Amino acid sequence: MAKIAINIATGSLQQAEMIVGIDLGTTNSLVAIVHPETKQPICLKEHNANSIVPSIIYFDENNNVIVGEEAHKYLETNPANTIFSAKRLMGKSYNDIKNNASFFSYKVIDDSTESLVKVQVNNKFYSPIDLSSFILKELKNRAEHILKTPVTKAVITVPAYFNDAQRQATRDAGKLAGLDVLRIVNEPTAASLAYGLGTNTTDEKIIAVYDLGGGTFDISILKITNGIFEVLSTNGDTYLGGDDFDKAIVDYWIEENKIDSTTLTTNKSLVQSLRLKAEEAKKYLSSSNEFFSRLNELTLFIKKDKFENLIQPLINKTIDCCKLAVKDAGIDLQEIDTIVMVGGSTRIPSVKTAVSNYFNKEVFDSINPDEVVALGAAIQADILAGNNKNFLLLDITPLSLGLETMGGLMDVLIPRNSKIPSKVSRQYTTQKDAQGSMRISVFQGERDLVKDNRKLAEFNLTGIPGMPAGMPKVEVSFLINADGILTVSAKELRSGVEQSIEVKPQYGITDSDVEKMLLESITHAKDDIATRALVEARTEGEQILSVTEKFLQKNTTLVSQDEMIETAQAMQALQLALTMEDKNLIHTKIEALNEITRPFAERAMDAAVSGALSGKSIL
Ligand code: ADP
Ligand code: MG
Repeated sequence: MAKIAINIATGSLQQAEMIVGIDLGTTNSLVAIVHPETKQPICLKEHNANSIVPSIIYFDENNNVIVGEEAHKYLETNPANTIFSAKRLMGKSYNDIKNNASFFSYKVIDDSTESLVKVQVNNKFYSPIDLSSFILKELKNRAEHILKTPVTKAVITVPAYFNDAQRQATRDAGKLAGLDVLRIVNEPTAASLAYGLGTNTTDEKIIAVYDLGGGTFDISILKITNGIFEVLSTNGDTYLGGDDFDKAIVDYWIEENKIDSTTLTTNKSLVQSLRLKAEEAKKYLSSSNEFFSRLNELTLFIKKDKFENLIQPLINKTIDCCKLAVKDAGIDLQEIDTIVMVGGSTRIPSVKTAVSNYFNKEVFDSINPDEVVALGAAIQADILAGNNKNFLLLDITPLSLGLETMGGLMDVLIPRNSKIPSKVSRQYTTQKDAQGSMRISVFQGERDLVKDNRKLAEFNLTGIPGMPAGMPKVEVSFLINADGILTVSAKELRSGVEQSIEVKPQYGITDSDVEKMLLESITHAKDDIATRALVEARTEGEQILSVTEKFLQKNTTLVSQDEMIETAQAMQALQLALTMEDKNLIHTKIEALNEITRPFAERAMDAAVSGALSGKSIL
């Protein structure tokens, strides 16, 4: 019996192990775990400290690195050596960011090429991967310090719109920080997981995740079916967030205090101090009606409704993005079941109201919006650690599993979203006379042609005794056990041959791979149907040609010279049609050939019958 052991779910670790979840944010980053005793996700923090680590990296003159809250103050005093928003540079070339170059107060190297950007600090150059790795390293160190155990494995979240290069860059940053990145998970997926959405595998839900952070706004529409998260659409603004709200307050105070522009250009630290005060004011106004403070001789005062007026245009912009996302998702607004609020800026009451009004529903905001993504990453990490065996991603197959059949077509045995454990068997036969072996190629994916899917394994069932084509009965079975391990076996039923080939287990695929494969299957669905029809027509045509040829060889006496020529012409026409991309033409030529050969079959039958009557064997 040929067996293949494949962990199709995750390449999941079976032993209990602490795997951390990390939200690597543009403004703030956090690390979380599922508590081994309470089984609840928690963000890690030192006693009395904050769980939030600002994504800021300061390099001193000796290139020593300081990350987090401590690096914050250098934004003002040493901007050239203080890196913020490194995430914006991930997987980007200078050309990609040149329109926003003024945003970065540190030195981003302009090489005017498509190669990946570098940042220069002192005499050294750093890639965005290096920079992100410093933040990840800091989170790893903190986690190790708090947990008092080495931390080497992590799940890291990224925005849903991150492309392959950006996801790979994030993985590489993890590796550089000494972390084995088991999965890259979409931020909105993580946030949904934190709310327990998708844990009930029978649920089908559409979720909107509204994420307003420090410098970016993302809206993602997700569909959860049987515990599988599918990104229907994303939209947003990569330069819109809490920082803009701070700036709106700064501008208001500058106007109120009649600070002139020369003061502002000469006194840079005044602007920075105003910014810090403005952020303080903004946060304060999320739970109070007015803010008052002094800065030297300046009076800094703002009322909540004034603040709300100032930011209303910005909030409206986010709602416009939501409208586009709903449209792109191809759904009606009413179809959205749940709205999840993510990001520190969603604490602002008028943001909540605007979102709730637009979607015409209460929003989910009971979990701390700064922490919700990290908490979801921790839940995902816990599943991968094998601590939560009955959980969604192991409950069902994320992608279809099948075999390659004639013409490179995918024959699905276990459709995607099938419950596991599950077992399916199907019979196949040979195409050629005396065919002694059969190749079993196992694929995963949703496309009609195996070449577009992912090959998991392949083996040959050998030792099939010589039989005419179509006679052997090869039963192929797919069995997925409760751990998500796929075993493929093949057995020829007439002779009883089976084979025992062990194929090394293959590692699983990431969420993003699954998402990509699903999206591709949707975008290519039309093409795939057409291709499948063409391949099937060709296969049929080839079979008819081969049967006709065999018949003519055996039964020369039954066919006249003219018929022979006519048949040969029809065969040639079909042969030619097979080389073209037109399935209708192939069908026409098959029909034409059938039309000519139909009487032959009747004659052969008559001959056989009369032969039988005269006592001869028909074989
Ligand atoms: P990111 O995901 O981009 O790293 P976060 O989700 O951590 O960012 O959001 C950071 C932003 O949230 C900052 O602009 C911060 O000022 C803002 N913020 C945090 N708390 C509040 C609050 N109570 N009210 C308003 N804004 C807040
Ligand atoms: Mg975030």
